[in-house]
Amino acid sequence: MIPVIALVGRPNVGKSTLFNRLTKSRDALVADYPGLTRDRKYGDGKLGEHDFIVIDTGGITGDEQGIDEKMASQSLQAIEEADAVLFLVDGRHGLNPADEMIANHLRRSSKPTYLVVNKTDGINEDIALADFYSVGLGSLYPIAAAHGKGVRSLIDTALAPF
Ligand code: GDP
Ligand code: MG
Repeated sequence: MIPVIALVGRPNVGKSTLFNRLTKSRDALVADYPGLTRDRKYGDGKLGEHDFIVIDTGGITGDEQGIDEKMASQSLQAIEEADAVLFLVDGRHGLNPADEMIANHLRRSSKPTYLVVNKTDGINEDIALADFYSVGLGSLYPIAAAHGKGVRSLIDTALAPF
């Protein structure tokens, strides 16, 4: 069985950037504005000896009406389909109410969840992480999806049980 990893989080935290890195593609559109990915998107992930399926999602905004509501329900479906969930937050912006809402959902679901603090390139990692310990989802995984920093060890950890 090939394990399935879902990438969830609010828009603009770097989910599609990580998806592209894991699938070595440029398929997922990366944008400076939120909400470009509306449906969930599947890719073949490969990293070191790991083979897996990765699901990119549009994001959960916490203000779910219209398009946002569709994106959120796509994210919830991706979580259902996943063996492991990577919950991405933005290390440059600190904790956001939408992050807390997503965390509440993930805490109630039984899925193994990894709290991934992205965009930690060129900033003080300890300061970037400090805000997120209170989320209460266990260890924090600092990465920079755009540069690959921390990605290997994150995937090694998330896929260790498989
Ligand atoms: P998504 O909406 O969660 O899919 O986020 P995107 O992957 O589209 O990225 C949103 C923005 O964050 C883009 O401008 C990316 O270039 C930027 N970004 C993504 N990963 C990183 C990173 O590791 N470091 C920095 N500095 N910017 C990043
Ligand atoms: Mg995206």
